[in-house]
Amino acid sequence: MIIVMKKGASPMQVEAVIERVEQTGCKVHPSVGEETTILGVIGDVRAVNMAQIQLMEGVDRTMRVARPYKLASREFNPTDTLIRIRDVVIGGNKVVVMAGPCAVESREQMLETARAVKASGATMLRGGAFKPRSSPYSFQGLGEEGLKYLAMAREETGLPFVTEVMDPQMVPLVSEYADMLQIGARNMQNFALLHAVGESHKPVLLKRGMMSTIEEWLMSAEYILSHGNNNVILCERGIRTFETTTRNTLDISAVPVLKQLTHLPVVVDPSHATGKWDLVEPTARASVAAGADGLVIEVHPRPEEALSDGPQSLKPERFTNLMATLPAIATAIGRSM
Ligand code: PEP
Ligand code: MN
Repeated sequence: MIIVMKKGASPMQVEAVIERVEQTGCKVHPSVGEETTILGVIGDVRAVNMAQIQLMEGVDRTMRVARPYKLASREFNPTDTLIRIRDVVIGGNKVVVMAGPCAVESREQMLETARAVKASGATMLRGGAFKPRSSPYSFQGLGEEGLKYLAMAREETGLPFVTEVMDPQMVPLVSEYADMLQIGARNMQNFALLHAVGESHKPVLLKRGMMSTIEEWLMSAEYILSHGNNNVILCERGIRTFETTTRNTLDISAVPVLKQLTHLPVVVDPSHATGKWDLVEPTARASVAAGADGLVIEVHPRPEEALSDGPQSLKPERFTNLMATLPAIATAIGRSM
């Protein structure tokens, strides 16, 4: 249920409504806009007497939200959510690009990649220190040492970084270093992990599960939002279909669908979606054209030596070429890079 306050409703009026709703055992998530405050009511809303709330001072109207996700819905927050990470804003007019290796492999590899992607205009760094690998025999990541190399790369380039956290117990450690926490596709429905990142104050990059519907994905976002963290970015990274030519099938329509359903920023990872470096460039361009707020792209100085995801990693010069083609596409749809 949503309570829309009148323009200019006083803080005391808002407080009185919150108090009244909370007496029923429901929780209230206020969304304070420039002109109006919207109160999202979560819990057993049958206990809330909407007719009475409607009569309270400062209340404009009340609405039931039909969708199972409430806080993530456009109805709850009609204006786009902007997420600030140091000097970077995600979800605004500017299209952002997060780039870096699949896995942090060494100090040199991380710094070399960071310098290269910065020179080509990347907005943020990415790199996995804790890697969710399909095989227990594959490289599992450098752990905290990898986080340290990411922090060094940030210090040198000034670019904030996103990195994956796989375990609720590791959220405090990863948060000590990272600017944004990544929930990987395999963990999209790890509810204990969603709860833990929901209680942290770091922005969260929530990747789509490889077999998840858009509604399931938004319900996972709802877990994070309902635990108090409003800074969630959705990342489409391809889903499993009958098609085997590509690693996954990029669901490009997820971008405009999400733009209708949610106020949260949407980015696309064409690297994991296709699994092939020569498909990354066209699908990255298509993602920007479709209205994505950003891209997540794997770049490795020597993909043939990469410890993970070499086949889908761009060499720095290829990343530079891709970056050069994006501003014209962004401009064509009224955005900037
Ligand atoms: C990654 O971004 O490194 C990754 C493992 O991606 P996904 O969870 O989308 O497979
Ligand atoms: Mn990868």
